[in-house]
Amino acid sequence: MSPNAPIFRPTEARIDLSAVAHNVRALGSLTPAATAFMAVVKADAYGHGAVAVARAAREAGASWFGVALVEEALELRQAGLSEPILVLGPTDPAAARAAVAADVRLALFDPDLAQALDAAARDLGRTARVHLKIDTGMGRVGVRPDRLAEFVEGVAGLQGIEVEGAFTHLATADEADLGFAQEQLGRFRECLPVLTDRGLRPRLVHAANTAGILALPESHLDLVRAGIGLYGIYPSDEVARPVRLEPVLTWATRVAFVKTVPGGTPLSYGRTHVTTGPRRIATLPVGYGDGYPRLLSNRGSVLVRGRRAPVKGRVCMDMILVDVTHVPEADVGDEVVLLGRQAGEEIPADELARLTGTIPYEITCNLGKRVPRRLEG
Ligand SMILES: *Cc1c(COP(=O)(O)O)cnc(C)c1O
Repeated sequence: MSPNAPIFRPTEARIDLSAVAHNVRALGSLTPAATAFMAVVKADAYGHGAVAVARAAREAGASWFGVALVEEALELRQAGLSEPILVLGPTDPAAARAAVAADVRLALFDPDLAQALDAAARDLGRTARVHLKIDTGMGRVGVRPDRLAEFVEGVAGLQGIEVEGAFTHLATADEADLGFAQEQLGRFRECLPVLTDRGLRPRLVHAANTAGILALPESHLDLVRAGIGLYGIYPSDEVARPVRLEPVLTWATRVAFVKTVPGGTPLSYGRTHVTTGPRRIATLPVGYGDGYPRLLSNRGSVLVRGRRAPVKGRVCMDMILVDVTHVPEADVGDEVVLLGRQAGEEIPADELARLTGTIPYEITCNLGKRVPRRLEG
């Protein structure tokens, strides 16, 4: 939808920016004062809106931004954010020049990217700043410790490149057993002399994601990379909760239609639910086309007038049906909360994740681009 198109639909995602600020301060309070705070705003800030979240995080003390793609970094630059930005994932060498021109730092673990960055930097008369990514146990991207010396020797000779950082990523910091995370940190520490012995002195050594911030103080180092916690969501049920995080997202709509149906009435595609007696059924103008998981068919519930109303029948692309028989006042135009709080009741992202066999990260990331974001706070 074009940015200036009029909005008629009542469905919206309210983004509480004061909650973002609270979460930055709460997570930051767990780390040493000298530790820098990176707000990870990849995937449009986990569905919340990257530019608005980045600005709010900056106001609250974040001094770095983390993204997954050069495109995401450029979006922040275009919005006027001038803080350092690190692309955490792999980058095609074809993007090297654009990254250097916008002073976007890249994760480096690929010799071809190193060559492309060096060439782009010389050509532009600038320095390409990079953070060496070391794979200590995630098995995803990064130089493996046994290949590190060779890789570092290749990079140390490139005049256009400044190795500003070195980092690793923890695979299990959100689990109750922190043994493997400690092992990863141990391997990471052993890698650092491989760099210094070859003349590289990265100013920023980092490892912690939100789970590391919450549960593993020894992972805090020079900088922490907070993603899910920024949005007021804990990474898992097992992770320590030393601070209270505030949910940022409220996903709401309004009742579009209400009817009373007799027993024996089938509801929605496939007739997977048939009423067992007279029921008041409300139609909501939102569906899987907006990111409301179809797996919530006959499983999810929503909040109407502060009460839970169960989803009946299959979630459609643009509509869902909920049973409001026990909320007799419920009527067309009433606010309905799909995710978030209403009148003391709450449907957290964790609940939708549990009911659909996923993690809350995926629930907020899937919030559709058809849902207008409204900034609050
Ligand atoms: C996404 C990401 C993070 C943030 O992780 P959360 O669990 O959301 O805090 C940190 N570091 C890297 C490398 C990432 O890819």
